Parts: sequence; C-alpha cells; structure tokens
Amino acid sequence: MKRRVLLKLSGEALAGEKHTGFDEPTVTKVAKQVKTLVDQGIEVGIVIGGGNFWRGRSSENIDRTKADQIGMLATVMNCIYVSEIFRSQGMMTAVLTPFPCGEFTKGFSKDRANKYFQHNMVVFFAGGTGHPYFSTDTATVLRAIEIEADEILLAKAVDGVYDSDPKTNPDAKKFDEISIQEVIEKDLKVVDMTASILCKENKRLAGNGRIGVCGMVAGKCRQRTKSINVTQDVQPVKQIFSIFVPPLFNAHYLPELPEHGTFQQD
Ligand code: UDP
Repeated sequence: MKRRVLLKLSGEALAGEKHTGFDEPTVTKVAKQVKTLVDQGIEVGIVIGGGNFWRGRSSENIDRTKADQIGMLATVMNCIYVSEIFRSQGMMTAVLTPFPCGEFTKGFSKDRANKYFQHNMVVFFAGGTGHPYFSTDTATVLRAIEIEADEILLAKAVDGVYDSDPKTNPDAKKFDEISIQEVIEKDLKVVDMTASILCKENKRLAGNGRIGVCGMVAGKCRQRTKSINVTQDVQPVKQIFSIFVPPLFNAHYLPELPEHGTFQQD
C-alpha cells in the first residue's frame, strides 16, 4: 500500500506578501515541493483554506450560512487555481467538491478519490465539508479519515506546536511531545477545536495517523530538525499525531519535469 498524505495549506499561504488573492511564484514553489512527494510515489491529497479571499465569520451583517457558503466557494477557487499551477509543473490533478459545481469540479466520493490516487493524481478536496459553521481544518481531518490517509501535513506559518504564539511572544515554549488531550485542554490550535475533537475520537487516527506541522512562511517550507510526537493518552502506546519534520518535504531534489499531465477524468 502506498503512503498517502493529506496536506493542508492555508489560503494565506497562496497569497505571499500580498496577503490576499494569489501569488504565482509562491504557489509554484509549493507545487515544486509537492512534486517531490509525488515523484517518490506518495499519494497526495490537498485541502486549502479560503482566508486569502473570505472568511464566513468576518462578516457582521450577512447571514452566517450564506457567508460560509461564500467561504466554501473561495476554497473551490483556491483549489482550481493551485490545481492548474500543479499541472503547469507536470502533475496530474483532480478537484473534488462535496456539492455540485457544474463541470468545474467532480463530486467527492471515497471511491472516486481512490481511483484518482491510483492514477497518480494529486486530489484536491475543495469546498470544505460542504456545510456552514465548519472550517477547512475540520474538512482536513474528515477527509483524512475518509480516505484513510497515513498522515496529515499542516503547512503553517510557525514551525511546530507552541504554548502561545511565537510571533507575538518571544518566550513561547515549543513542545517536543504533547498529547491530543493536552492540545484540546490548552486550546493550542494545532487544528481548530472541532477538528481536534474529531482526531481524538477517531480510532484510525488514534491508531496510525500522524499530523506533521511543516513550517511554511511565504511558500518556503523550512527545514526542521526536531520532531514532536503528539500522543493519544486515552489509548496509550498508540500515537495520534506525530508532529515531525517531514523529511520528504524538504525539496533537496527537484527532478526534471515530465510532460504536462493529461489523464482524462471520468
Ligand atoms: N467554510 C465552511 N465550511 C467548511 C469549510 C469552510 O463554511 O467546511 C467556510 C467558512 O466561512 C470559512 C471559509 O470557508 O471561514 C474559509 O475556510 P477556512 O478554513 O480557511 O476558514 P477559517 O478557519 O480560516 O475561517
């Protein structure tokens, strides 16, 4: 069985210094890094946030359900864009959504995702969970469970798990090891609370799954040397997260680009 990872990119990670919209050089760098995974035979699923365009909760005047629908559509735009950049770098891709988007995307199902993975395609899980009041963090964990991913990689602007924000607190303590229970109790936001609880309650992640935090600032995935295990203390021995340096994600080797991907979607 091939190794399968689910990579979560924030919307902001696509915007670079502009903080909004797309920054093509930044996204191209991400694409090149992901290509190193694909070229190693690793199956890569991607969830992308929408913060470079819109966040449902940031609107004070419109109905939250509608605001969240706009947010979900922002994630679809992000996935279509990043998918195309990936194709320009020689990868084959598919964009799946939990709601119909005409011919722009395909509907999500586990079987369809598996089929695309078998064809060495990068599969984008766009549109979040398809429901308001959720986030793409929750969509990440949900899809990871559904597609039986081996691990989740979080590309974040910080390089690990801290007890407070290291950008504002120079004395922030970085954890070498932490339990999912502690992540929840201390509200550490490795992923948001709903997603954390989903991790805690899921037997598969409790047994095998790992979450890697891969520091990413302006599209650069920084090399890290230390690894953190986030353990599941409810079921000792088993790990739920392993916050670790994904060595596979250090783009030390960039192979020649193959021909543009042309796999025909069904
Ligand atoms: N969103 C949603 N349901 C989901 C995923 C996302 O309603 O399952 C909406 C929500 O409005 C959110 C926006 O899409 O603010 C962008 O998603 P992201 O996870 O980036 O939002 P954040 O957590 O940063 O607000």
